[in-house]
Amino acid sequence: KIAISWFRRDLRLLDNAGLYHALKSGFSVLPLFIFDRAILDQLENKEDKRVTFIYQAVADLKKQLKELDSDMEVQYGFPVDIWKSLLEKYDIAEVYTNHDYETYAKDRDDEIASLLKKSGVEFKTFKDQVIFEKQEILTGQDTVYTVFTPYSKAWKAKLNDFYLSSYPTKKYFSKFYKTKTTNIPTFKEMGFIETDHDFPSEKVRSALIENYEETRNYPALPGTSRIGIHLRFGTVSIRDLARKALEKSDTWLNELIWRDFYHQILWNFPQVGQGKAFRADYDKIRWRNNEKEFKLWCEGKTGYPLVDAGMHELNETGFMHNRVRMVTASFLSKHLLIDWRWGEAYFAEKLLDYDLAANNGGWQWAAGSGNDAAPYFRIFNPTAQAEKFDSKGEYIKKWVPELNSLNYPAPIVDHKFARERCLKAYKEALNKDK
Ligand code: FAD
Repeated sequence: KIAISWFRRDLRLLDNAGLYHALKSGFSVLPLFIFDRAILDQLENKEDKRVTFIYQAVADLKKQLKELDSDMEVQYGFPVDIWKSLLEKYDIAEVYTNHDYETYAKDRDDEIASLLKKSGVEFKTFKDQVIFEKQEILTGQDTVYTVFTPYSKAWKAKLNDFYLSSYPTKKYFSKFYKTKTTNIPTFKEMGFIETDHDFPSEKVRSALIENYEETRNYPALPGTSRIGIHLRFGTVSIRDLARKALEKSDTWLNELIWRDFYHQILWNFPQVGQGKAFRADYDKIRWRNNEKEFKLWCEGKTGYPLVDAGMHELNETGFMHNRVRMVTASFLSKHLLIDWRWGEAYFAEKLLDYDLAANNGGWQWAAGSGNDAAPYFRIFNPTAQAEKFDSKGEYIKKWVPELNSLNYPAPIVDHKFARERCLKAYKEALNKDK
């Protein structure tokens, strides 16, 4: 009998909770990765860089495991079908994996757990991708925090070495199942095309974190870690990063806490991930949803240089600086009165670090409909934001080189007009009289 350690968004051998428990189970451990068709079939861009990122991470795991005389079983298909075939192929005693807080993943895991149960196989799951999950951080009244600042205080108060220490998997590497399994399915078999491998490094420089407070708001500077994609797919451990943050920068630690915060929001209020505003009132807003304007926003042709620069950065690199994410998201939902869910979906398609919980949280924050969101009457002025955070215009020049040519479009909407129109629409929906 063997145990299977099923990797999903935890693509590393070190400090991996589920893997650690599997290796200690007493059974030989076979690592598994499934290229999940239910997810991949939905990606319209067949040159999606994130698929290349995962592929590369899986190939790397396979290589590391081969050096330990083991291997990783890598399959392509729908998880239920794959698990049915694995139950026939191997004599499985237990399956280990890490929690995933998204609705699709929860449903998938429930289905797999009951399938395995029918064969007498236990499905054991662990917290791995966050420091605190689900309802580990509650208010004095045992309710879930929906406002960030008190949540972060409680988060910090609960933190101790136990939550920060790594799972010492390496000690148990001799427990991997000795095997030579199958190859990785090719990109072609999965209907994808391999892209370049130009991804941000998983190493975070200490100097960067030390200066984070001063540099983080200026999109022209390389002032943030760009670690998002690694956190998304688990090629770094959140515990390693949190220890580093604790030592070097409280501000950076706060960003990691925002990540935990939005994950617990998604878990406790799953409706936010299913198209619902966190504040139900906001679903009464009558969006204009002008498709032509949406297209101009997507293409970075709004005539507002900071918005356009952000969209160009996103379209060309799969990254956008946080300050600019806030400005572009606010512009779409408030200036153009386009349903924030359209923008959320566009970011989901383009961002390398796309994460349902954080993206949804960010969009609802910008639109005003989220927990702890910007109040409805606070409407970013994209020109003032550019003056404040890109005063020399370096970021804008980099991403909108056509700015000083005749080709650069006039603003698609006047700021003052858009502001009034937004306030009116929001007030109407929210029943505000001032
Ligand atoms: P750093 O500034 O170095 O921060 C380190 C890490 O902390 C990030 O990689 C991320 O994991 C986490 N983090 C930082 N800020 C936040 C935040 N506000 N909420 C949650 N986690 C945070 N972040 C995503 O990871 N995925 C998304 O899909 C995403 N979509 C967003 C959409 C909008 C509209 C907005 C306003 C923000 C979004 N963010 C998202 C949050 C934030 O913009 C990015 O995490 C950050 O810009 C990533 O850059 P970095 O890795 O250099 O981050």
